[in-house]
Formats: sequence, C-alpha cells, structure tokens
Amino acid sequence: MWFNLDTIVARAKRRGFAYPGSDIYGGLANARDLGPYGTEIKRNIENNRRTYFIQSREDVIWLDSQILMNPKVREASGHVGGFSDPLIDCKKCKSRERADKMIENYVNNKLEKLAKDSKKGSDTYIHAYDEYQKDLNELYWVNNLISESRTFEQQKKFIDWEKIKCGKCWSCDWTEPKKFNLMFKTQQGIVEWEWTDIYLRPETAQGIFVNFKNILDTTRSRIPFGIAQIGKSFRNEITPGNFMFRVREFYQMEIEYFVENNEEVGLKAFEEWKALSKKRRTEEIGIKEDNLKFRDHDKDELSFYSKWTCDVEYLFPRGRGELQGIAYRTDYDLKQHMQFSGKDLQYNDPHTGKRYIPHVIEPSRGLTRAILTTMIDAYDEEKYTDGNGNEASRVVARFHKNVAPIKFAIIPLVKKDEKMVAMARDIFNKLSKNYMVEFDDSGNIGKSYRRQDEIGTPYCITVDHQSLDPKDGTVTLRTRDDMKQIRIKAEDIVF
Ligand code: ATP
Repeated sequence: MWFNLDTIVARAKRRGFAYPGSDIYGGLANARDLGPYGTEIKRNIENNRRTYFIQSREDVIWLDSQILMNPKVREASGHVGGFSDPLIDCKKCKSRERADKMIENYVNNKLEKLAKDSKKGSDTYIHAYDEYQKDLNELYWVNNLISESRTFEQQKKFIDWEKIKCGKCWSCDWTEPKKFNLMFKTQQGIVEWEWTDIYLRPETAQGIFVNFKNILDTTRSRIPFGIAQIGKSFRNEITPGNFMFRVREFYQMEIEYFVENNEEVGLKAFEEWKALSKKRRTEEIGIKEDNLKFRDHDKDELSFYSKWTCDVEYLFPRGRGELQGIAYRTDYDLKQHMQFSGKDLQYNDPHTGKRYIPHVIEPSRGLTRAILTTMIDAYDEEKYTDGNGNEASRVVARFHKNVAPIKFAIIPLVKKDEKMVAMARDIFNKLSKNYMVEFDDSGNIGKSYRRQDEIGTPYCITVDHQSLDPKDGTVTLRTRDDMKQIRIKAEDIVF
C-alpha cells in the first residue's frame, strides 16, 4: 500500500506517538518528542534487544557511559579532525545543502526516472542506465556513483556537470563544498574564564572503547565478546528532516564485538552479525523483509581502517535510507586510544598466552530511525464489510506483538453498569502486572475498536452482559489483524 510520510507524521501527533519538540513555542527545527505510545515502542525495542543479545547470550554485556567525555577521546576517535559533512551553499538564495546527500538523491531520482520511462529490465532501460553509468565512470573513474567518500572536488564537478538545481530558487550556482564539523560543542566549568570546550557525543561507541580495560579487569569476559550500549547521540546535521529520520538529537544502539586479531575470524564474525541483524529485525521486530536491503560497501567506499562495511537500508516513503551500519573496524579504535591515552589496551589470551590488540565488529543502529521504521512498516488502511453488510474502512497499525505499545485493551460494554466495569477493572488489574494494558470505558465499542486498531493493540477484551452471567462468565477476545471475535472464559486469559 502506498502512502506518504506526511500521513505517518499526522497520525503520530494525533495518536500520541510523536509530537513536534517545544510545540507550544512554535517548535524547534526538526526536533521531536516521543509521546506515550512512541516511548513505549522505544522501550519495547530496547527490551527485546536486551533479551535477544544480552540476556540470552553469554558473550554480550551492557554498559552505560557518559555523554560528556574527556575531549581527548574525540581527538583519538578522529571526530575533532574528521567528523564533518560537505556543506554547500546556494549563492543566490543562501540555502544550505549536504553535497553528498544532494548527489545521492539526484542519482537515485534519475535512476528511478530511467526505470519508469522505460520498463525496468527492458533493453532500453539497461541501455539508458549503462550509458549514464558510463558517463559517471568517465567523470569519476570509479563505479560507485553515490559514495560518501568522493572528494569535494569530485562532488562539485558532478554537481556542475549535471547542473543540479537548488530546491528553493531553482538556480544552479553553488559554492565549493567545505568541511562542516557535526559535533555540538559546549563548555564545562563554573566561571567563564575556567571554561573548557567539551563535546556532546556524536555516537555512543567511544564510551565502549574507553571502558574496554575496565570490563576485562572486572568481568569474566574473554574474547570473543561484545559490549552493548543504548543512549543519546547528538549531531549538528546540515539538513535534518524527513520526520525522525535525520534529527539533531537521537538514540543509538551500538555493539562492539571484540574478536581475535585475525582477518578470517573477523570476516566470519562480520557475516554472523549481518545474519543476526536480519533475523532479529524481521522475526522479533516484524519489519517486512522486502523493505530491507543489505548493501555491502564497494572497496573504494570503505573507510581506510575498515575491512568490510554493510549498510542496512529501509525503503522509506521518500526512498532508501540507512538504518544501521555494520563495520569490521579491525584494531583501529583500540590502537588510537592506546596511543592517545598511553594505556595498554592489549588482550592476554589465557589459553595461548598470546598478547594482541583485538579486532572489532561494530553493528551500529539508530533507535530513533528504528521507531520510525516500525511506525511506517505497520501502517495499513483497509476496506472491509461490517456486521451490517456495509462497506467500511479502517486504519490499522499491524505492529509485531513485541513492538505494539499496548498489548490488551479492556473494554466494559456499558460504562454505567457498575458490575461490568468492576469485572473489567479486575481483568485490567491482573493483566497490567505483566503487560501494558489500556482501560477503555468510552462506552462506544465501535470507536474503541477503531482507536485500538490505530494504535496497534493486538487484542481487545470486552466485558458484556453474558460475562456477568455466573453460568457463562465469558468475555469477547477480538484480534486486531482479522477482527475475529471469540468468547473465552475470563480466567483463561493468561495473567
Ligand atoms: P547518514 O549517512 O544517514 O548520515 P551515518 O552513516 O552518518 O548516517 P552512522 O554514523 O553509521 O550514520 O550512525 C549509525 C546509525 O545511527 C545510522 O545508521 C542511523 O540509524 C543513526 N543515525 C545517524 N545519524 C542520525 C540522525 N541524525 N538522526 C537519526 N538517526 C541517526
């Protein structure tokens, strides 16, 4: 089913999934606050991750490190010198763009247009595509059209060559791209003359590397093992937007999985994390496999320290976007921290007596983007015939049961019937010990069902006159996806 992102944005606000940040003050550019249901989805994804990767495995543990770190950490990680995007300005209307993303969108749109103009797979399409690819190869001498690792000179050459227009004033007069560091800088210290510059972390990973030795010294972790973390990261993005896709303050879930310093072992672990990532996302979070793409980086797209990188992409309504990067980073990070801190971060293998700097696989996932993905993936509009034989339609969020913010809605059919309400309350009190449950006594069963469908509640339990009959005692259990209703004994609901 096709729908655009605005549908999701509007529903997110109307149904309490996400609100514009600082709303009553007119908002803050592209900031979003999670509403009660968005917060619950976040918690569910975190909990599932904890069960899947930490609780049920012996080789991955948790950590919760600080957002503010010694500024030297950011020098060692390369963020001070290198964490920048290519900023380009329209000379006419002064609007700002990210040169690499502008090229990426342009190329994707162009390829999509080629695919539409001549049926995909037909000779014309292949010919047009090949011609375009050939032109680009001549321009770049490389195969990858949209790599972020193109030089600024190559990016500008491409923009001028293709005459990419400004989206605001339609002119084609751009400045040279220049480096723009994405880190938020702030000051630490009580009085102004004692202030020192400090950064809000742009990713959570460095907190893991700097605690590598602490973990080894204080736990029984032995290689191979992983350290996981979930937390806020901050990036002063040049072009935030697309709802919660690119924001300046967001959650990340990262794991650093340390292995032997041996490429064969590293590549095997890399492939295992790729497979695990797909399995969890489709089976545990319920994302449709067709909407996912695992895109391995080309050789010339890899960072100099990376042996292999794969982007997990999702088909958003406005095109493909990255959900997660999985990178085999070798021993780069620990080596950097050894050099900058002067501390020995080598590992002593208790079996072989070998001493070495471990290699690392890093599955780095955005939790804010994951929340957005579940909202998009679950969204459905459906026509059906109601109990009176009339055509009706509904919006339904088909969240996986692990993700659904509310698991059960308990509905007394007649809100003024004290006995009915008391029985419904009793069920609520029992179920809410283990699940997020909503008590819905609006008194209009049709409206309650529609509302619960929209927020994605898998089951509604309705208490009616039959429920109060001591010889019967059954309640109605309605399932969200097929709207089927069955009667079951109240005490048979698993508490
Ligand atoms: P992009 O190319 O989209 O800017 P990136 O390659 O810079 O992403 P990473 O540094 O690999 O992203 O960060 C890991 C994950 O963190 C991303 O896959 C994404 O899910 C999430 N992420 C990164 N930047 C943002 C942001 N500004 N807003 C929301 N999530 C983000």
